[in-house]
Amino acid sequence: MTIDAPLDAAVIGAGPAGLMAAEMIADAGRRVAVFEAMPSPARKFLMAGKSGLNITHVASDADLAAVYPNAPQRLLQAVTDFGPSRIQDWMAQLGVQPLTGPTGRVFPEQMKASPLLRAWLARLESKGVELHTRHHWIGWEESGELIFLTPDGQRSIPCRAQIFSLGGASWKRLGSDGSWLPAFETLGVPVSPFRPSNCGLRINWSDRMQAEFAGAPVKNVAVRFEDQSSREEFVITSRGMESGAVFTLSLSVRDALERACEATIHLDLLPDVSAEDVRHRLSRPRGKQSLSNHLRKTLNLAGVKRALLFEFGGLEAAEAPDQLARLIKHLPVPVIGLFPLDEAISTDGGISFEALDDHFMLKHRPGRFFAGEMLDWDAPTGGYLLTACLATGRAAGRGAVRWLNNAENT
Ligand SMILES: Cc1cc2nc3c(=O)[nH]c(=O)nc-3n(C[C@H](O)[C@H](O)[C@H](O)COP(=O)(O)OP(=O)(O)OC[C@H]3O[C@@H](n4cnc5c(N)ncnc54)[C@H](O)[C@@H]3O)c2cc1C
Repeated sequence: MTIDAPLDAAVIGAGPAGLMAAEMIADAGRRVAVFEAMPSPARKFLMAGKSGLNITHVASDADLAAVYPNAPQRLLQAVTDFGPSRIQDWMAQLGVQPLTGPTGRVFPEQMKASPLLRAWLARLESKGVELHTRHHWIGWEESGELIFLTPDGQRSIPCRAQIFSLGGASWKRLGSDGSWLPAFETLGVPVSPFRPSNCGLRINWSDRMQAEFAGAPVKNVAVRFEDQSSREEFVITSRGMESGAVFTLSLSVRDALERACEATIHLDLLPDVSAEDVRHRLSRPRGKQSLSNHLRKTLNLAGVKRALLFEFGGLEAAEAPDQLARLIKHLPVPVIGLFPLDEAISTDGGISFEALDDHFMLKHRPGRFFAGEMLDWDAPTGGYLLTACLATGRAAGRGAVRWLNNAENT
């Protein structure tokens, strides 16, 4: 598609944040085009849907304030203005019914992202939003025009408002590679370095644990770190632990590792049995049974949970029911690091909020707006990542419309 007349706005990055910004601008009757480096839009959004697209959470405003740690008021305002119930209405308008799981996580009824994305792209097209794929943004001309690398060579695009929604710095193969950061640093925009969020924890497993249990899910367990606790299951991998509870606690573990270079999480292997009951059952005469058999018969503790106990409990515990019970309820697991940045579900770091006004616009370069994961905010999984991406996309898109209107009226 060619761009014959100047655009009112260019959105760079066709993830959920950028598509939402484009929709707001098109709704205001403005001419908007979305530019995407990859051959197709929203690849990370589609990947997120592979294991069930947890698009939001039935959280109250108070809950929302708690899940975005250190978030500036602008972010909280955006997620309050376009929060869980508005996101569910928006899905329903696209013909996709929301489905709420037992822990309050909200999914599209088909669980996948593709039906929602298909309907959304069709609606955007019907509103006149242009989509240019294989356009990799690399910077600005002196005149302020956007420069893209395309299969047909370099291309400069004039436009009035620019909305950047380039994503974080993980899962590079899906397009979000964080390579945009130096361009903004050069412009004098304050940025924070990227850090992994919602990522796996590295554990120094024994060879036996790796060989026998890599890939094993650990179910019906509680994982604790400092004052946080999660009852979600997690998965053992050859390098450590990931998914569910591990992702939830990884933000605090990451901060602790940065502070003290060490962190120990604790597992409650039998969260539905009291410590006293565990001790009582273990005190039953063991006779000549092995400890494994005793654990299986008295507590139904076997398989990967028993292996975890032996891995971190130490054999001296075997003879003392009190100590063994304490370990089963509070098993220390030392964490030696985090999985690499590129494997993280999300990243924090990026464009600092101090650079932005209340409408997500660069204070010192009016007309340039930001949305989504490229902004410096952090949140656990649970639907809160996509909630903030959609909400900031909406806020930045509306901010751009406001700025265009003001510019014309002055
Ligand atoms: C495996 C996985 C599962 C996930 N599951 C969930 C979940 O269930 N719930 C949840 O809330 N979140 C989930 N997330 C996180 C969520 O997908 C992201 O937070 C979200 O997609 C970020 O949206 P965004 O629009 O800010 O950026 P992105 O979706 O990353 O989109 C940014 C776009 O910008 C493009 N781009 C980058 N640089 C350039 C450039 N220079 N020029 C042009 N285009 C460029 C990229 O190609 C990309 O398409 C998951 C992530 C992963 C990896």
